Amino acid sequence: MLSAFTGSLSGLARRVSPHSSRTRVPLNNLVFSLALSLALSLAFSAALPGEARGQTDDEKTVTAIFNERLTTGEMYYLLEDLCKNIGPRLSGSEGAERSVTWAKEVMEGYGFDRVYLQEVMVPHWERGEPEQVRIVNVDEGMIELSALAIGGSEPTAPTGLTAPVVVVHSLEEVEEIGREAVEGKIVFYNRRFDQTVISTGPGYGGAVDQRTAGPSQAARFGAVGVVIRSAGSDFSDAPHTGGLRYAEDVERIPAAALGYQSADRLERALEEQPEAMLYMRLASKWHPDALSHNVIGEIRGSERPDEIILVGGHLDSWDVAEGAHDDGAGVVHSIGVLRTFQKLGIQPRHTIRAVLFMNEENGLRGGLKYAEVARDTGENHVIALESDAGGFSPRGFGVSADDDVIERFRSWLPLFPQNTVSYINMGGGGADIGPLRRETGTPTIGFIPDSQRAFDYHHATTDVFEAVNRRELELGGASIATLIYLIDKYGLRDDMAQ
Ligand SMILES: [Zn+2]
Repeated sequence: MLSAFTGSLSGLARRVSPHSSRTRVPLNNLVFSLALSLALSLAFSAALPGEARGQTDDEKTVTAIFNERLTTGEMYYLLEDLCKNIGPRLSGSEGAERSVTWAKEVMEGYGFDRVYLQEVMVPHWERGEPEQVRIVNVDEGMIELSALAIGGSEPTAPTGLTAPVVVVHSLEEVEEIGREAVEGKIVFYNRRFDQTVISTGPGYGGAVDQRTAGPSQAARFGAVGVVIRSAGSDFSDAPHTGGLRYAEDVERIPAAALGYQSADRLERALEEQPEAMLYMRLASKWHPDALSHNVIGEIRGSERPDEIILVGGHLDSWDVAEGAHDDGAGVVHSIGVLRTFQKLGIQPRHTIRAVLFMNEENGLRGGLKYAEVARDTGENHVIALESDAGGFSPRGFGVSADDDVIERFRSWLPLFPQNTVSYINMGGGGADIGPLRRETGTPTIGFIPDSQRAFDYHHATTDVFEAVNRRELELGGASIATLIYLIDKYGLRDDMAQ
C-alpha cells in the first residue's frame, strides 16, 4: 500500500505492530498507533517526504504517477483545449478533421518516439438545421418539445411531417398492437431509464434499443416516424442523441429523441387528448463516405519493442456537444499514459501505444480498420485498454483475459492508493478494441469510472468541458497509467516479467 496516500497512520501502525496488517490492527494497538502516529507524523512530516517512508519501488513509482497527474492537471487542460478549440467532432465533419490534426500535433509536440495517422473511410451524416418537434391539435394550440434527430436518421420532408401518435414501451409492444394500431402514425417509445440500477451502464443498456432498433421496428408495422424518450439518466430537458441501425428490408423513417421533460409533456398531452398529433421536421443529410484517420502515438519499448501495449479512446464525438466525457476523457487518458511515463522518466519495456480511434459513435470504422491492419501485418499486441466511460472518479477495470491474468491484476490492487481502483471485473474492453480482440485474440481491458453521472451527459448537449472535474479526470488517468506501468513491468504471466 502507499503510505503517501494511506497517510502516515498505517505506515507507522505497521512499524509499531509489525504482525498486524492494515485491515486487522487490534483495537488497542490502533489507539496506541493513532496517538503515536499523530505525534510522530508531526515530527516526521517535515523531515520525510512521502517517497521516503519505506516505500517499495513500485509504491514510489505509483506515488509519482498520482502526484504528477494531480498536481499538474496537464491532461485536464489538454481536454479543455480539445473541447473549447476543436469542439464537436462527428465523423466526416470539419471538427473531426481538425481533431485529427490537433491530436497529431499534440503528440508530436511531446516528442513521442513515433506519431502517425492510419487512414480510414468514415460515414458522414449531418444534422442540418435545428430539429422542430411539437405537439399540435391540442387545446394550447401547440407545445414545443426539446428534440434531437437520432444520429443517422433520414430527414422528414422539408415541410415536415404531421401524424397521430401511438405510445409504446418496447419493441415487442409494437408487434403486439400490430399494423392496425401503428400504420400511418408516429410511434412514441416511452420506456424510462431504469433508475434502480446502481451501476448505470445496464440502465442505459435496458433503454437504448428504442433508439437503435425502434425506428425500423416501427416502420415494419407501417409507422411514418418515431420519437423516443431519450436513453439518459437525467431529468432535464436535454435530449440525448446516438446512433440508430436501419434494417435492410424496411423503409427508413425519420426518428428523434426527446428530452425527459418533453417526453413527460407528450405523455401527459396524449393522456388528456389522445387525438393530439405530432409535427416533426428533421433536416438531416447523408453525404458520401469521407477520408479520416486514427491517430497513433508510441513510446518504443526498450526490451520488447515489437510487443505492444495499447491504450486508447475515441477521437470522434457526437455533433451536439464538446464530447468531453465521451470521449475526450479517453483521448487525454490515453495520451496521458505516454506523457506521464515521459515526464517521470519511466522507460517501458514494451512499446506503449496510444490509439485515438475515429468513428466509434456512428460506424466503428476506426476500430475495424485498426484490427484489420494489426491482423494483416501480424502486429503483436500484449493487451489493449480502452477508456470510454467518462472522466469520472476511477472505480475498477473490467478485463477479458484468462483467469490467471485477472488474478494477477487483482494482486496489484493494493498498489492503487486508497481504493482509487478497488476491483477487477471478469470481462471488459471497449467498442474500438473489440474488433482487435476478435481478429487477433488480444486480451482487452475497459476502464470503469464511477457511473452515476455518465448517462446524464452521454450524447447530450451537456457533455461539455465544464462537466468534467479536474481531480476526477486526473485520478482516472493516473489509475490507467498505473495499470499500464504494472503490466509493462510484470507482464501477463511470470515468463513475461522483468
Ligand atoms: Zn464513447
